[in-house]
Amino acid sequence: MKRVFNFGAGPAMLPLEVMQQAQAEFLNYQNLGASVIEISHRSGEFDDIIKRCDALLTELAGIPDNYKILYVHGGAQMQFSAVPLNLINRKAANKASFVLTGNWAVKASKEAARYGMSINLASSENRNFSYIPDYDLGLLDPDSSYLHITSNNTLFGTRWHSFPETGEVPLVADMTSEFLSRKLDINQFGLIFAGLQKNLGPAGLALVIIREDLLEYALPATPGLLNYQVYAEQHSLANTTNTFAIYLMSLVLQWLKDQGGVALMEKQNEAKAKLIYDAIDDSDFYYGTADAAHRSAMNVTFNLHNEDLLGEFVEQAEAADLYALKGHRAVGGARASIYNAMPRAGCEALVEFMSDFERRMG
Ligand SMILES: *Cc1c(COP(=O)(O)O)cnc(C)c1O
Repeated sequence: MKRVFNFGAGPAMLPLEVMQQAQAEFLNYQNLGASVIEISHRSGEFDDIIKRCDALLTELAGIPDNYKILYVHGGAQMQFSAVPLNLINRKAANKASFVLTGNWAVKASKEAARYGMSINLASSENRNFSYIPDYDLGLLDPDSSYLHITSNNTLFGTRWHSFPETGEVPLVADMTSEFLSRKLDINQFGLIFAGLQKNLGPAGLALVIIREDLLEYALPATPGLLNYQVYAEQHSLANTTNTFAIYLMSLVLQWLKDQGGVALMEKQNEAKAKLIYDAIDDSDFYYGTADAAHRSAMNVTFNLHNEDLLGEFVEQAEAADLYALKGHRAVGGARASIYNAMPRAGCEALVEFMSDFERRMG
């Protein structure tokens, strides 16, 4: 069986053990004589799966009692609509504030403007989102219904190393490309969301963690299937959910627990990223595209000083089973996405290839 090291940004590599378990039990789940994708979302077996997901998430992320865990249709970008629909009405001013650190935040800000007023507190667009901008919390209007940030910027390879203290204004974080890769204090956030396909499972659903007191502000026109209150009341089963995605996520979460949990994973992730950043910094052939102080541990963005060699770099890497290293078109260059499931051996293989490529082509 051929398996590459997959550096794609998402849908991304999942732990091999997880897919092997899914494969082994695919045709006959728990001796039912039916597949997990053939059973009712209201069956006892699926109820066990979704409850296991809740319990593992609560334990792994340290989710306090006053938060709800929701599994919402439509992936991460659907939350760019769902968040304002549910929250922008929290204050009569109907304002949402944003820090623009990349394309995802820009999109979220534009989408929120359909339902109220979007205010952009700060932006790093002037240097193509290669850093997290300074922001003055004094400028955050206390009449803002929430402040939205993207905690890890998948395209640009930056992340927030610490989070703003927003006081009464709930902090909303799009953590799609890093949730469960680092320790968090959930109490700092009013709402966290993450599309599953980067670090948690297959595409198409988003995990939403919301403080209970924020459930009551949905605009009257909010579609039922985007209304967080409906999800909270019906345990995310107002209609048929993506049962397979939740099942697979439950296996990923169990795998993460078996690996030693988030704190250990964070250490490994930092060490994996350091391997690649050191290789970039120690060379005159490669350079990092994000400011060193704001670098992501999940998406390592870099380029070759001689960009004419980039195509060759990506092609030869692929021939060496290092898959999907081409950077996003908004940045150019190369990008190594190294989520939880990427083993250290994958990063070592990439570093070795980079040095070999430099020796041959430099
Ligand atoms: C991938 C990604 C998205 C988009 O996810 P979809 O599920 O395709 O909508 C949004 N935000 C961030 C930070 C991402 O990495």
